[in-house]
Amino acid sequence: PFECQGKHITVAGLGVSGVPAARVLHGLGARVTVVNDGDDTRAREQAAELEALGITVRLGDGATLPEGTELIVTAPGWKPDKPLFAAADEAGVPVWGDVELAWRLRKPGAAPWLAVTGTNGKTTTVQMLASILKAAGLRTAAVGNIGVSLLDAVLGEEEYDVLAVELSSYQLHWAPSLRAHSAAVLNLAPDHLDWHGSMEAYARDKGRVYEGNRVACVYNVADKATEDLVREADVEEGCRAVGFTLGTPGPSQLGVVEGLLVDRAFVENRHKNAQELAEVSDVRPPAPHNIANALAAAALARAYGVPAGAVRDGLRAFTPDAHRIAHVADLDDVAYVDDSKATNTHAAQASLGAYESIVWIAGGLAKGAAFDELVAGSAKRLRGAVLIGRDRALIREALARHAPEVPVVDLDRTDTGAMLQAVQEAKRLARPGDTVLLAPACASMDMFANYNKRGDAFAQAVRELGA
Ligand code: ADP
Repeated sequence: PFECQGKHITVAGLGVSGVPAARVLHGLGARVTVVNDGDDTRAREQAAELEALGITVRLGDGATLPEGTELIVTAPGWKPDKPLFAAADEAGVPVWGDVELAWRLRKPGAAPWLAVTGTNGKTTTVQMLASILKAAGLRTAAVGNIGVSLLDAVLGEEEYDVLAVELSSYQLHWAPSLRAHSAAVLNLAPDHLDWHGSMEAYARDKGRVYEGNRVACVYNVADKATEDLVREADVEEGCRAVGFTLGTPGPSQLGVVEGLLVDRAFVENRHKNAQELAEVSDVRPPAPHNIANALAAAALARAYGVPAGAVRDGLRAFTPDAHRIAHVADLDDVAYVDDSKATNTHAAQASLGAYESIVWIAGGLAKGAAFDELVAGSAKRLRGAVLIGRDRALIREALARHAPEVPVVDLDRTDTGAMLQAVQEAKRLARPGDTVLLAPACASMDMFANYNKRGDAFAQAVRELGA
């Protein structure tokens, strides 16, 4: 592992990755300085905690490179065009993200990583993968945004055979030496382009996950951009490209045949050219995008050598996380579904595609997205739409262009109480057999602390309606 003792290390950014990184590096004997742009109450509290340990913290100055810095460990969210990084570049100082740090601090013989990235479906896929690996009797954890933190997984007491790791495009950008056992890019749609600068740069950062893979690069047959990334990656000899598809699988692919998930890439029996893994109904919820997630998880598990039975058992044991196409209630023969986690148009498209007749609750912070494709593709399925949040006009205009016959209720509200009114309006528009679907296609922070709170408000409103 990387030797920290006595090194001058600058940690860029307090917060969820910076504070633990500073603690760990300090604990390993590094001379740590934390620099942070903000100087608010929260930052001062965190700074006080770190200073009590003997760590230097500079608040309100994230741009100046501290004298003598030998390495920067940055919060993954820090944009590459920040002046601090220009200064580092000038001085020949390397910059690592939280993932690179965890990778470098791995103990000898540490558990290999099965990595998952993509615009949508990462968390779900990583959890499915961990469930499958557990069903195979392996010591493992879902690591990343939720579950165990990477640093804990790598440095903690707990021993693992293999890790199921979720990686964002930001994290990959700052992880130059990461080498996974196998990795999957689930899909690629425009997101976070303001950070990466362009779609090309975003794709390039996602594609980093394949660099140096040993066993398999898993790609989405329906998303050619993911296959292109595999082709461009520099991998170990013998590493295979393995596709997943909702259709009939070709050689070296996993797919669906007559209601079964089938593997044609890792077949144990020399006399067969396909291995049945599980039934489609073992995947919950059985929405198309989620079956794709299950196939990607299965591909990584199979690359690691997991038997077919464990794929089935692991998928059956998997329970989806809250706010991801969660069925809240049925009232008067109308289903109420919470997909608050659909925070971008690509995700909302997947959940709108899973239902036939929908009253759609949408809106929030658009993050620069356009809604034409989403609305045009879903127009046939919409019984009505209820719009909330700051950027709702963008969705209203797209509806007017592509679905002029769909009734729209535009709630001119961004207070938290708006959710109850939105659900009431949705109930009014719905007919028996319909689904009222919260799939906002937007971030939540204009109205709520996060997507969890938004989903909770929806569920609460549905309960009040039913009471
Ligand atoms: P991530 O961790 O990438 O944000 P999640 O697993 O939390 O992904 O799912 C986020 C949302 O994205 C879900 O609520 C669903 O609407 C949508 N989604 C999940 N899987 C996919 C997929 N494979 N393709 C498109 N959208 C998806």
